Parts: sequence; structure tokens; C-alpha cells
Amino acid sequence: MYASIGGSRRPSAPRTSRLTRLAVLASTVALSAAGLAVAATPSSAATCNGYVGLTFDDGPTGSTSALLSVLRANGVRATMFNVGQNVQSNQSAARAQVDAGMWVANHSWNHAHMTSMNQSQMQSDLSQTNSAIQSATGVRPQLFRPPYGETNSTLQSVASSLGLRQVIWDVDSQDWNGASVSQIVSNAGRLQDGQVILMHDGIQNTRDAIPQIMANLSSRNLCPGMISPSTGRAVAPDGTAPPTTPPPTGTPTTPPPTTPPPTGGCTATATIPNVWGDRYNTSVTVQGASNWTVVVALTPPQRVSTTWNGSPSWDSTGYVMTMRSNGSGNTFGFTTMMNGNSSARPQIRSCTTG
Ligand SMILES: [Zn+2]
Repeated sequence: MYASIGGSRRPSAPRTSRLTRLAVLASTVALSAAGLAVAATPSSAATCNGYVGLTFDDGPTGSTSALLSVLRANGVRATMFNVGQNVQSNQSAARAQVDAGMWVANHSWNHAHMTSMNQSQMQSDLSQTNSAIQSATGVRPQLFRPPYGETNSTLQSVASSLGLRQVIWDVDSQDWNGASVSQIVSNAGRLQDGQVILMHDGIQNTRDAIPQIMANLSSRNLCPGMISPSTGRAVAPDGTAPPTTPPPTGTPTTPPPTTPPPTGGCTATATIPNVWGDRYNTSVTVQGASNWTVVVALTPPQRVSTTWNGSPSWDSTGYVMTMRSNGSGNTFGFTTMMNGNSSARPQIRSCTTG
């Protein structure tokens, strides 16, 4: 089943000419160099002056967990255009996408050429896919991308009647076409504010390109965003428009991450034992219970990349972590990627027993 989907993922998009690709590559090399300079001074890289939509099609696959690891380590939230039958056969991977802070969307039931279907076949295909995604993740899709980008007015009206906004792409990464890591990075370098890029789940070069794609976006003050179901454009993750002016200087002081008022019989105390250029560790010690649940909130765009000595789960934003004891004692920890915000520290919201 995967082979048939993988073999047919090729979208019918025009190929970039070699000359154009070389020119883009040259300009991106310059941008990457600038990105490295900016990364050395994180305080200047914290502003999001615009948002882009990173999208990964054709999942979930056997390597979805590897993709999610790379995305989380780089502080990326992306939109996953899932194939319905892949979701049905791998529900835990679809749930893991949502748990990792990704948005899940409809990419048809089995990646057929939908423009050759009649209206009722289209309706059945998209409904079945919506149901599979909702059943696996609890999230009702609001976005639809037709396989191969092939669409017509009937398909668009069927999608619309199911509450789905059609989203194609502005930039094709060409990952489906054997593009190298540097070519994928170069193609992503063309993204402008509000635009969407086509990438795929299940491709190693795509995963390997993500750190460089993020460095390039960061050097241009572009951040990964969500795709608005009303406009189909990339916007800030909470649905608001990107800021048109930089945030005021004199950032409010972050309160130290220490003891909150005890709630439900335990107290959690956080310390920051290690800080590096791009990340830091938080260690949280719980007193008053051996079976505990601690809720920790992050400040976007900071993201947790690793945890230890607890069982984490996440809310739909990906910025609120609920950590439960797992028999490893009363001290748990996690690593937070700064993603340009070097001053914020996690806030402990509650500590409860059980
Ligand atoms: Zn596809």
C-alpha cells in the first residue's frame, strides 16, 4: 500500500529550470551565511515579521516519528496533509502528530486522481478521510490538499461543503523528485510571508533539510505558522495576523521559575541547571507526593526537545506540557530550545497528586 502511494506522490507541477534553480541556490548560500551570523546573537532573531506554512504530505508513514522528532527539536509546527487510509492503519502516528503540536489536514483517502471522480465519489472520499482523521486524533480537518495539486470546480465545492478549505502550495520543495538536501533548502529559501511549501513525510533528505530551512527562515525573521482555514495563507499559530511592528523594547521581566502555591497537596520547584547558546535544561523537584502531575507552560517560540524521568503529554498548542510521574522518582527534567527567545523560562502552573 505504501509503495503505491509513494510511487504516485509525484505532483504535476512545472519543474524549475536549471538556471533558475542555480540562481536561487546562489542567493540562498548568502542567506545561510547571514543566518549563522544572526544565530550568534539570539536577541536579534526573536521577532517574527511574517509566517510561512511548512506542509508534509502523504503521511503518516513508518518514519513519521522521525519527522516529528526533527520538527520538535527545531521548534517547528507544521501542517500534515494525511492520506486517510494511512491514518486508519496507523492511528497512533496520527495522534503523535497532534501531540507534537502539528495541524492535521485531509489529503484524500488513497491519493487518487480526484478530478476523474464524479461528485459523489469525491464526497465519499473526503468524508471518509475526515472521519478517519477525526477518529484517530480528535481533530476535525479544516484544510484539504488534492493529490498532485489536481483540482476542479466540482472538487472545490465538495471540499467546501465539508468545511474544508483547499490549499495547494506556493513553493514546491521538489523532495518528491529526488532533490538533494541543499536543493530542498534552496527551494524553501524562496518562501515569502504568508506562503506555503510542499514537502513530504517519509523522505530522509526532507528531514535532513529542516535545520537549515529553519536557519534561513530565522535569518529573515520568518516563523513557521498555521494555515488559515479562511484564507489558505500562513498566519501566526494562534490565528492572529503577524505583527506589523516589532514588539516594544524593554521586555517584561520573567518571574523566576520557582515554587507556585501548592494545589492538591504537592509543590513543584524548578531550577535551571544548564544554559547553552540555543537551549537550556530545567529540573523540577516535587515535594509532598510520589504520584504527581505537574503542568508546565512554555513561552512561544520556545519548545521542549527532550524530557526525562516523567511521562509528558501536550495540549493542542504544543506549549503546555503535563508531566506525570512514571516511577523514576520525584525529580524530572526537560530541555527547551530557545528558538530566538533566550530570556523566557518555563512557568509551573500546578502540581497535583495522582
Ligand atoms: Zn500527495
